[in-house]
Amino acid sequence: MDLPFPLIKKLMRWFEQRRREMPWRGSEDPYHIWVSEMMLQQTQVTTVEKYYPKWIARFPDVFSLAQAPLEEILKVWEGLGYYTRARNFHKGAKYIAEHAKSREQPFPDTYEEWLKVPGVGPYTAAAVSSIAFRYPAAVLDANVLRVMARLFCLERNTASPGLRRELFTAMNRAFYDFHPGWVNQAWMELGSLQCKPRPDCGNCPIKDFCAAFARNAVADYPRKKAKKDIPIRSGAAFVILRENRVLLLRRPAEGFLGGLWEFPSYTLRENTKKDSYFQDFIRNNHLLPESEALACIRHSYSHFHQDMQIYKTELRGNWSNPAWTALCWADPEKAKALPLSGLTHKILQSLRLTGSLPAEKIN
Ligand code: SF4
Repeated sequence: MDLPFPLIKKLMRWFEQRRREMPWRGSEDPYHIWVSEMMLQQTQVTTVEKYYPKWIARFPDVFSLAQAPLEEILKVWEGLGYYTRARNFHKGAKYIAEHAKSREQPFPDTYEEWLKVPGVGPYTAAAVSSIAFRYPAAVLDANVLRVMARLFCLERNTASPGLRRELFTAMNRAFYDFHPGWVNQAWMELGSLQCKPRPDCGNCPIKDFCAAFARNAVADYPRKKAKKDIPIRSGAAFVILRENRVLLLRRPAEGFLGGLWEFPSYTLRENTKKDSYFQDFIRNNHLLPESEALACIRHSYSHFHQDMQIYKTELRGNWSNPAWTALCWADPEKAKALPLSGLTHKILQSLRLTGSLPAEKIN
């Protein structure tokens, strides 16, 4: 796989003219770049543009992030999804603060050193080291992999580690005298704006080098994986009201939606017997739900849909279930200050719409 100088030159000229302005673009501050790269994983630029300034205002440097409580970090992250990123970011910031070379320049400056930071994978290590420190490490995100699959008519799955290593080597040889960080951003931008899933080949700056374009086979690359159906998991959530306060529980810090607050609830894997689980759950937790569900809410994640029946419920005695790490009786208005799961937001909204809580009390 060869990426000759004339190709890179055309790419860089196009990038100079076409690149989008973004709040973090042009910065060589490693922390700012790290924030943007953590947020941009699985998330659109337009969404990140809204969160980024809020984050920088609240956590202006790596030390303020390292010292902040996880709950506050999750709150500022709320809505961006994939909360593991926020927890990993916190762990990474603590590591950097502990291993700081100096307060002025606490960061590692090579790809290999960045890979030692907890929660930092090859993508982030390459992005931060190349953009902030001009380190020649190629970024291979989904957009870049799509471009490469077409440029070279790659038959192998781009998820294959062997193929990724080959691409990494080929791209690392092809920075020439350009700033590696700008070359990486140019590839990513080409994948976002030009070589999209439905590409605009007519205006592509590197079409003369593209094997798929030459063979009129652009639609065949990247090779498609068989699509998996997204499963639907059902469950129930229980709204327990006492003196206009609702019972909220905090999930364990690690794992799916770790550290977020939610209503008492369960979600079943496919093929679990629903009725008996419902009966066991309410008996074991001393719940007396109303006979009819108040609402049924679908909430979707990348790997499953969740269909939840929402029940108004009485609680006999006190709540006690070690599956959650903390509980609180929250004024629904004040609950907004807690980091809440997306489903919890939807349930609060549904309670307002059904008149179960005073409208002005909830967002
Ligand atoms: S010519 Fe088309 S398929 Fe090839 S790199 Fe350009 S946009 Fe992508």
